[in-house]
Amino acid sequence: MCRHLGWLGRDVSLSSLVLDPPHGLRTQSYAPRRQKHGLLNADGWGVGFFDGATPRRWRSAAPLWGDVSFESVAPALRSHCVVAAVRSATVSMPIEVSATAPFTDGRWLLSHNGIVDRRVLPAAPAAESVCDSAVLAALVFARGVDALGDVVAELGATDPHARLNLLAGNGSRLLATTWGDTLSLLRRDDGVVLASEPYDDDPGWEDMPDRHLVEVAPDGITVTPLKGLR
Ligand code: GLN
Repeated sequence: MCRHLGWLGRDVSLSSLVLDPPHGLRTQSYAPRRQKHGLLNADGWGVGFFDGATPRRWRSAAPLWGDVSFESVAPALRSHCVVAAVRSATVSMPIEVSATAPFTDGRWLLSHNGIVDRRVLPAAPAAESVCDSAVLAALVFARGVDALGDVVAELGATDPHARLNLLAGNGSRLLATTWGDTLSLLRRDDGVVLASEPYDDDPGWEDMPDRHLVEVAPDGITVTPLKGLR
């Protein structure tokens, strides 16, 4: 399982979210604390952020821990909405930039922690890569990200071995699902963090329940059971 992080709030630097926290994504790239599948996340990384309404991405197929260029520039890049990930490639999936989250349709940034059998996914000519997460992202974009919870519940029913923790942001909202892996939420004075695992030992981190949809919006946070559990 990869690890991902979302931010919605005031403008903050990318380094303050990804590099500086003691157990942030950089540390999670070699020493995650809650990872159940895989030991480390060395197969690439991506940081997506909104520049006004425009999503921008910086991705690499190399480990985040050694990226001195990103380390140099990240303190100067600031955003109110961020979707970032470090990757542990699923066996047989390509290790390439185009397989690395976040994916985008030009409006949303989207990351996937997990695995899904590509045979249950419809053909996706728009997918950036043949990687399961890229094909899944193309499906979510085609269905509309607002249907994220339905898509995850349907795929989870079709592929019982699927793990479907997804995280998406569009500059004014974050949407995330839990389906087989961990997700934590931190309410800060300046915004909200969603992360596969806490980036520090702040007692304010809340563990999200499995098989739920979490929505972070300017008017509040909602946590809803996914279809089939109601
Ligand atoms: N299946 C995806 C990939 O290969 C995500 C892997 C993961 O969550 N570790 O990139």
